[in-house]
Amino acid sequence: SEFLSSSDSKVSELINRELQRQRNHLELIASENFTSPAVLAAQGSILTNKYAEGLPGKRYYGGCEFVDEIELIAIHRAKELFGAAHANVQPHSGAQANFAVFLSLLEPGDRIMGMDLSHGGHLTHGSPINVSGKWFQAYHYGVSQKTEQLDYEGIRELALRVRPKLLICGCSAYPRIIDFAKFRNIADEAGAYLLADIAHIAGLVATGHHPNPIPYCDVVTTTTHKTLRGPRGGLILTRDNELGKKLDKSVFPGTQGGPLEHVIAAKAVAFGEALKPEFKDYSAQVIANAKVLANQLQARGMKIVSNGTENHLILIDLRSINMTGKVADKLVSNVNITANKNTIPFDPESPFVTSGLRLGSPALTTRGMGTTEFAEIGNIIADCLLKSDSEEVAKDCRHRVASLCDRFPLYPHLRTPLVQ
Ligand code: PLP
Repeated sequence: SEFLSSSDSKVSELINRELQRQRNHLELIASENFTSPAVLAAQGSILTNKYAEGLPGKRYYGGCEFVDEIELIAIHRAKELFGAAHANVQPHSGAQANFAVFLSLLEPGDRIMGMDLSHGGHLTHGSPINVSGKWFQAYHYGVSQKTEQLDYEGIRELALRVRPKLLICGCSAYPRIIDFAKFRNIADEAGAYLLADIAHIAGLVATGHHPNPIPYCDVVTTTTHKTLRGPRGGLILTRDNELGKKLDKSVFPGTQGGPLEHVIAAKAVAFGEALKPEFKDYSAQVIANAKVLANQLQARGMKIVSNGTENHLILIDLRSINMTGKVADKLVSNVNITANKNTIPFDPESPFVTSGLRLGSPALTTRGMGTTEFAEIGNIIADCLLKSDSEEVAKDCRHRVASLCDRFPLYPHLRTPLVQ
């Protein structure tokens, strides 16, 4: 805005340059999306000025009558979206949501079990470099080497041996449906609580394009900014009102201070959008686009982990073209495509090099791209990876990327001065 540019030209210019970057690149990072202008407006509002420790109706500060109403709308819509009995909309992020769950259910030293990071799990599910792996004894399960899909029999065997207090399902780089009923049976047999972290697939769950974990899990956590297309933030859901009260206390005062009411307002707006029929169509398109991208890359000779996808993301197994994730990441970036290198199950390379490239369809689907465009994107990626020594090909790829970006404008309402 003109307020920002006149008071801080440096930050203002950098925001403008970031907007240009988002407009001029094909965004294929599976965990990213573009929020609506309405969500942006709520998040950038005067609500950032307000302290509101506590919950609606039970605050430690005066002047909360309007933020109370906003937070109640967010809670109500979150419950409706996921069919939950209780929702806490205050976690600042997905990691904060998980941390609050641990505080509710675990004591330091307890055993937890989650998916291996290198098989598609998340840092907060027991990685040794995260508090979840430092304060708890963490054990990890993975996918079967043959199918590259969750190995439920192996998970059951490990759970019965380890007897974790908490079993975590949910992932950051897994392209298949998660069977929550199977996880429930395993948790029951092992005497464990069950947490589903649906950060990646929340939008698909909310629209019925992925099974809902609420009926099967003690607690469900998610981020709000990936397939759900809201502001950057976290959310905790449960079917159990008593546990819900405990979770509320673990968020505040357990692990957080004042809630970010501007973000909560943006969550309310995003949940409202996700309840509309258009969002269901959007989610169906997200999956259709990911499938087309997988098919196109396969047609061009690349192996896709688990041989396809059932959600919003795919993982290319680059060993099929004798390339590493590090190199592929650089090559696509050179033609203005943004993605990330990623380990694949049983990866022979280190996490800094990797054998995989993770691609997701949510952001470009928001820009309006459909299956025709995703087939073209598959071809651009294949051309740039398979003919990596040709500057001619790279130039042509950049041209095709620019043409797609031009045809599907991003935030046309935001006027920006031309940045050199
Ligand atoms: N859980 C899963 C499964 C995730 O994929 C992520 C983010 O990548 C998180 C939690 C953490 O979310 P945040 O980055 O908001 O802390």
